[in-house]
Formats: sequence, C-alpha cells, structure tokens
Amino acid sequence: MNKPDYKIHIVGAGLSGLIAARVLENKGYRPVILESSEKVGGRIRTDEVDGFHLDRGFQVMLSEYPKVKQYIDLESLDLKELVPGAMIFEKGKSSKIGDPSRQPSLLGPSAFSGIASLSDMWKILRLSLELKRTSLNEIFEEKEVSTLEYLQHKGFSEKVISKFFKPFFSGIFLESELRTSSRMFRFVFKMFAEGRAVIPRKGIGEITRSLASELKHTKIHFNSPVERVTDSRIFLKSGKEIESHFSIIASEAAPLISNLRKQGTKWKSCHCFYFTASNQAIEGRMIGLIADDNSLVNNIFYHSSLNEDHKGDYLISVTVVKDTDLDETEMEEKLRSELKEYCGIETERLIKHYIIKKALPDLQSLQYEIMPTETRLSNRIFLAGDQLLNGSQNAAILSGERAALGLIETLEGGAVTAELTSEYL
Ligand SMILES: Cc1cc2nc3c(=O)[nH]c(=O)nc-3n(C[C@H](O)[C@H](O)[C@H](O)COP(=O)(O)OP(=O)(O)OC[C@H]3O[C@@H](n4cnc5c(N)ncnc54)[C@H](O)[C@@H]3O)c2cc1C
Repeated sequence: MNKPDYKIHIVGAGLSGLIAARVLENKGYRPVILESSEKVGGRIRTDEVDGFHLDRGFQVMLSEYPKVKQYIDLESLDLKELVPGAMIFEKGKSSKIGDPSRQPSLLGPSAFSGIASLSDMWKILRLSLELKRTSLNEIFEEKEVSTLEYLQHKGFSEKVISKFFKPFFSGIFLESELRTSSRMFRFVFKMFAEGRAVIPRKGIGEITRSLASELKHTKIHFNSPVERVTDSRIFLKSGKEIESHFSIIASEAAPLISNLRKQGTKWKSCHCFYFTASNQAIEGRMIGLIADDNSLVNNIFYHSSLNEDHKGDYLISVTVVKDTDLDETEMEEKLRSELKEYCGIETERLIKHYIIKKALPDLQSLQYEIMPTETRLSNRIFLAGDQLLNGSQNAAILSGERAALGLIETLEGGAVTAELTSEYL
C-alpha cells in the first residue's frame, strides 16, 4: 500500500494531535483528525467576544521549551513578551518582584519589596544559575518531592514562599498547595530563567490556529466526537463507524478504549473570568498576584496590554484555582470586591466566565520523555497528549511527535526509526 492510502486517524485537534499530523504529513502520510468541538486548539483556544480575544484560561508560551523551538514558528506569531516578574498585591499595597538577572530594573523593587530578603534574592539567582547547568533529562530523573517541600528545603524564607512562590506557581500548577512535583517546578523555573514568556497579540489560540493552517495533507472533521476506538474501527458518537488502519488518540484514552476504562486521568480544574475595567492597576505586561491565603483570586492579567493600539476599557483575566462552593454570581461578586480591595481595580462588565474542568493532568510522577515505541497501546493504536508526561505545551508537542514516530516505525520498520530517531530526539 502506498503511504497516502493508509487510513490514519487522530482523535483530537489539540496541540498534540496537530503535531502528530504534522510529523505524519512530513513523512508522506495523509492523516484525518476527528475533533469533537467546532475548532482546533483544545486547551489552547481563543474566542472572540464583543471584539475581545479571550483565551480559554490564561496561559503563556515559554519560548525556551525545546519542542516549541522545534515546531512553532515564533517569529510569525506577533508575540508579546511578558515582564519576567510579578506585581504582588497585599492589603492594599503593591510591590514588584522579579528576576533581576533577566530584567535589571527589577533588582531595586524586588530587593525593597519586603517580600524577598536579600538572602532569598541570592538563592533565586543561584537557582537560576544551577538550573542553567542542569539538563531537562537530569531534572526529570531527580527524586520527586512536593514543590513546597523543595522550597523549604532550599532555605527560602516563609515570607517569599507564601507571598511569591505560592501565588505564582499556584497559577502555573493550577493548585494552591504547591503539592506538584519539584521536577515540574525546576523545569518551569529553568524555562522562565532561560527564555521568554509570550502570548500572541490576538491570543494564545493563534498558536494552534497557525499550526493547523500549515497542515497541507490532513483533513480535519469537526463536531465529530469519538465514542470508541478499536484496532480496525473508530465509532463516532453519531453512530457512524469508520475503518482505520492506525489511530492516534491525542486526547484522554481511557473513555475510548474498553480495557482502559478504569485508568482515567485525574484532572486539575480552574475558573477564568474576563472583566472590563476602567483603570489600569498594573503597567505593562506583568502578571498580578494576590498574596493572601484567603483570597479567591489567584492571578490577574491585563490582556489589553497585548495590544499597543488598545483604546477604551481595559480587559483583564482573573484566574481562580481554589475549590469553592460559591455559585457563579457569588463568585463574580467576591472577585469584584477582592479586585477592588486588594488591587484598586474598578471592574465594569463581566465578559465571560470559563470553567475549565480538565485544565491540567494531576499526575503522581512526572516524566519529560517518551520513546516512540512506548506510545503504542496496541499494534494499531498509539497514544499522545500531555497527560502521558507532564502538564505542559512541551509535553503535548513531544507526545504527539513520538506517537507519530511510533506509528511510522510500525509501518516502516526499525531501520527507518533509527534514522528518524536521530533526527528527532
Ligand atoms: C488554564 C490553562 C493554563 C495553562 N497554562 C499553561 C502554560 O502557561 N504553559 C504550558 O506549557 N501549558 C499550559 N497549559 C497546558 C497546555 O495548554 C496543555 O498541556 C496542552 O494544550 C495540551 O494539549 P493536548 O493536545 O495534550 O490536549 P488538548 O488540548 O486537551 O486536546 C485534546 C483535543 O481532543 C478533543 N477531544 C477530546 N475528546 C475527544 C473525543 N472523544 N473525540 C474527538 N475529539 C476529542 C478535544 O476537544 C481537544 O481539542 C495550560 C492549560 C490550561 C487549561
């Protein structure tokens, strides 16, 4: 059979599915993506509402992720860089803290913030230098403890942990206790220290939109939720059956494969509210954090700062990572009052509230790598998605690439893999 004649299906048009399609296309195959929703992107999507670009949850791309550098044409994306630091709001006061090795102008404010002592600043600098010398594979082979234990063990003060690390990394890990593995902390810290945190001017969804537009020999079927996958057939929820020679499940596999049903992924969730605001409490593209254990708001970001020509009301996203029993109206009220009390932000219109139930996989042990053969569930079904490794864009890209390589290896044999492997690993 010629390569284009193989019926290869990918379930899911998120980052991992799009990358799997790209790798297959590059090797001469013509995959078909089955996507349950009406658009590409999965968790990396942006909606346009009343002229505002709303990301489905505040998220940044780290330019130093190895797989981002390999697959994403950053130059074409009209990227806006965030300031490498944060504005911390506490009891009506605000102070800036950041990495002075990246932005020297933050040295003064950080040192005098009252949040990080000089010893904390020195430890942050030393940690950056240490991580620059440590490879990602080494980081993911280290003993895992919780991030909180790791920071305490490193000797950071209680104050800098509770006022900076906790709110900052809670917003990244989407949990407020810092129980996430120290491997993830060191991975993300290294990426922040070595690269830039960026968002495209028109929102994070530009990344997946542009990846999809580059696919030339892949068909994408939208509104096509898959119910079950077997070695030779795909069953859609609509009742339709499709013949498939090979499948890549680039979404959670457990619901789709009968003998995996009990091995579902645990997920961390979050809420993201978008408000317009009449004033700007943070200048420039800087994340705002509320450093109070009792606050519901974790972080805020002025999305209007991504657009230099912005006029009129400001647009802010407000991320909540804590579990809460409040209903939507009660949450909205509490967020508005916290934004006013802690940050002096006068919110106007609520534009949108996203509840993201499956935001990040809640994994016990985190990995960086997966070999192509390890993505193989059966001779004809391969798995991809960040839940295989760690909750990051890098993991999603890497897993999509490896699943495609695993499939190609099955079809073309070991000699090809050796060649492919040296090209990709
Ligand atoms: C709020 C938030 C903030 C984040 N912040 C960051 C960050 O700052 N940095 C970072 O690196 N990562 C971040 N992430 C994680 C990052 O977005 C994910 O790691 C990545 O998008 C996962 O891609 P994926 O392809 O594995 O999964 P997904 O994006 O979830 O894609 C799966 C796709 O499969 C589709 N699908 C599911 N089931 C079916 C079915 N039965 N049939 C057909 N289609 C199906 C879905 O609709 C979806 O399009 C964040 C995530 C969230 C939600």
